[in-house]
Amino acid sequence: AKSEGKNNVVTYTAGIDRRVREQAELTQDLRVALDLGQFEVHYQPVFCSSGERLCGVEALLRWHHPERGPVSPAVFIPLAERSGSIKEIGEWVLRTAAHQVAAWQRELPGCADLELAVNLSPAQLRDPALLTTIASALHDSGLAAHDLILEVTESMLLSDLDLARRQLNAARTMGAQVAIDDFGTGYSSLSYLAKLPADQVKIDQSFVRELESGATSVALVRTIVDMARALNLDVQAEGVEEVMQQDILAELGCPRSQGYLYSRPLPVAGFASFATERATL
Ligand code: C2E
Ligand code: CA
Ligand code: CA
Ligand code: CA
Repeated sequence: AKSEGKNNVVTYTAGIDRRVREQAELTQDLRVALDLGQFEVHYQPVFCSSGERLCGVEALLRWHHPERGPVSPAVFIPLAERSGSIKEIGEWVLRTAAHQVAAWQRELPGCADLELAVNLSPAQLRDPALLTTIASALHDSGLAAHDLILEVTESMLLSDLDLARRQLNAARTMGAQVAIDDFGTGYSSLSYLAKLPADQVKIDQSFVRELESGATSVALVRTIVDMARALNLDVQAEGVEEVMQQDILAELGCPRSQGYLYSRPLPVAGFASFATERATL
C-alpha cells in the first residue's frame, strides 16, 4: 500500500509536469502563430426579431496548430493572455474581421447592415492604446462604428472597473456598442448593471441550456430580459440549440439569438453561402 501511494504521487506530479510543459510549449508556439498564418477567424451568425432576420456575426478565433491540429480558444486565449501576446492577436482579429464584414456588407445580399461582434480580452481592455487601435481598424476597413460590438465579460469589468468604464465609454462615444458577454454568471445586481457602460447583454449559454428543464430557469431568463428592457439594454441569448428554447425565448421577448440551431461558427466561404442561401429563400 505504501509503494502504491508513492506511485500515485509520482504519477500525479508527472501529470502536472506534463501539463506545465505542454502549456509552456503552446505559449511558445503562440508567439509565432500569427506570423506563420496559423490563425483563422470564424463567424457565427446572430439573428434578430426572434430568429427571423440575420443581423450580425460574432468573430471567433481558431488556431490550427501544425502538430496538434485545432486548439480550442478556451485553451489558448488564457495562455495568450498571460504571456501578453493577446494584444497583438486581438488586434489582428479586429482588423481581419472588420475588413471581412465591411466586404460582406458591400457584396452579400441582405447584409448591408451586418453587425460585427468581437471579443475583447482583459489585457486589451487595460491597454491605453485600445481606442486608437479600434479607430484605426474602423478607418482602414471602412466599417461604421455603429456596426461594431465589443464583447466584454462581467468579471473583466469588475477587476478594473474605472479604467474599463472609461475605455468602453470612449468607444461608445465613438459610436461602437458594448455587450456584456456570459451575462448572469458573475456578480450582477440591478444597481451594478445600471452603472455599466453597456448597450447589450448576452444571456449565458448555461441558462439557455436549462430553459426546457423547468420553471426556475424560465423565471431566471425572464428576469434578465425584463431587467435589460427596464435599463434600455438590448438582450441576446447564446447557445440556442433547440426549437423549444427559441420558442420560450421568443415568448419572453428576447429579440436576439445565436446558437447551433441557426448555425455553427463558419469559415469565410461558409458564411458567404449561408447568407446567400438565406437571402434567396
Ligand atoms: P464566447 O465569447 O462565450 O463564445 C461563444 C462560444 O460558444 C464559442 O465557442 C461558440 O462556438 C460556442 N457556441 C455558439 N453556439 C453554441 C451552441 O449552440 N452550443 C454550444 N455548445 N456552443 C455554442 P469557441 O469558439 O470555442 O470560443 C470559446 C471562447 O473563447 C469564447 O467564448 C471567448 O471567450 C473566447 N474567444 C474566442 N475567440 C476569441 C477572440 O478572438 N478573442 C478573445 N479575447 N476571446 C475569444
Ligand atoms: Ca462572446
Ligand atoms: Ca458568451
Ligand atoms: Ca464564454
